[in-house]
Amino acid sequence: MRMDSLTLLMRDARACTRCAGALPQAPRPVFQLHASARLLIAAQAPGRKVHDTGIPFNDASGERLRDWLGLTHEVFYDSRRVAILPMGFCFPGSGASGDLPPRRECAAAWRAPLLAHLKQLRLTLAIGRYAIAYHLPRSRGPLTDTVRAWRTHAPGCIALPHPSPRNNGWFKHNPWFESELLPALRQRVARALATP
Ligand code: SF4
Repeated sequence: MRMDSLTLLMRDARACTRCAGALPQAPRPVFQLHASARLLIAAQAPGRKVHDTGIPFNDASGERLRDWLGLTHEVFYDSRRVAILPMGFCFPGSGASGDLPPRRECAAAWRAPLLAHLKQLRLTLAIGRYAIAYHLPRSRGPLTDTVRAWRTHAPGCIALPHPSPRNNGWFKHNPWFESELLPALRQRVARALATP
């Protein structure tokens, strides 16, 4: 059976070893997508636990993110509805203050061509500063200011902080995020997924 171009591209991306020499272990690209996806979760890069399991957001960050979005595991991991495409597909390793930045090689080599196949997207969630810089390039300045200005963004994109437990202090100092943004976020996610 002949594979379509997206399936071929995904197969090649999953076999990528482009920056093998710079990674702490063998490359293991982790992402999910399907041409019919309505919601794009654009995040940073897999952490160690995600690398070990090969399942995106299979960690404490994912638990919090699913709660933010009001999504069950079943819907979250349904690639026909939800695409999960980090800025870097492989765990980049850790530094003194957390995980290293996503590998730059990924964006041009894989993300852009994969994104071009997602023509049914209704909403993109740009999570963390790397994804925000890519999907909302006009949003410069501190992340808090960008997230807080969510009402002014293009209707198809919302900037979010990373749901990592490392950001617990940020959530505590920014209660508007939970009281104002999250209810609107859940509504927009539900609307995007309900779009025929
Ligand atoms: S991070 Fe991206 S470019 Fe680098 S090896 Fe993994 S899939 Fe390839």
